Amino acid sequence: MKMAVNYQQQIPILVKLQEIDSFLADLRNEIERKPLELGELKLRLEEKKKQLDVIQEDIKRIKINIKEKELELKSGEEEVKRLQSQLMQVKTNKEYKSLLMEIEGKKADNSLIEDNILDLMEEVDKKELELNKERDNFKHLEAEYSKEEARIKSEIAKIENQIKDKEKEREEVCSHLDTQLLSIYERLLKNRDGLAIVPVVNDACGGCHLSLRPQIINEIKRKDHLVTCERCSRILYLDE
Ligand SMILES: [Zn+2]
Repeated sequence: MKMAVNYQQQIPILVKLQEIDSFLADLRNEIERKPLELGELKLRLEEKKKQLDVIQEDIKRIKINIKEKELELKSGEEEVKRLQSQLMQVKTNKEYKSLLMEIEGKKADNSLIEDNILDLMEEVDKKELELNKERDNFKHLEAEYSKEEARIKSEIAKIENQIKDKEKEREEVCSHLDTQLLSIYERLLKNRDGLAIVPVVNDACGGCHLSLRPQIINEIKRKDHLVTCERCSRILYLDE
């Protein structure tokens, strides 16, 4: 023969169990959210990496440009030499003058290319300074990231220990509950967003806020059977 359930005694235990389960749910949520704290830092790190790549690409591009300009200058200088050697062979004054002008023009072109090369070299120096600075920033950010990662890991470990302790407490509390009542509770916990037993708040269900008829409230007060909400099926109790 099955013993009648003593609701007067069992309901407060269920309330205690609900407290533990809500706390456990919070802790588990916290563990899930923890890694998100790294998100912003991770984004900053990726951005900084992109910035480094852009500067490196710029330097590469400018260096190629310098090489091209140097080749251009070399052939310009050879052209000047070639023209100068022609000076000895000209026959007329007019030819001589025109060749000289051509040489001067070529020299001026070469001088412009030289200036251009110097400007580009200066630009490379500037970019390399910037690259070094940004590399330092990147390293700092990386160190900060590792530190944060370690902090978060240790916080998660702490929460996991808290969960273990709470689970032990839960087991102990469950051992004082009627098994059938416990299985009703657990089914509700699973199907009602982790909230199985709720207090009456302002004459309404503390879970779905349905207004409760006075008759229902009287039934809850009698504590001789399990009273559940007509809408959400959660177990109701009076927070006295
Ligand atoms: Zn309800």
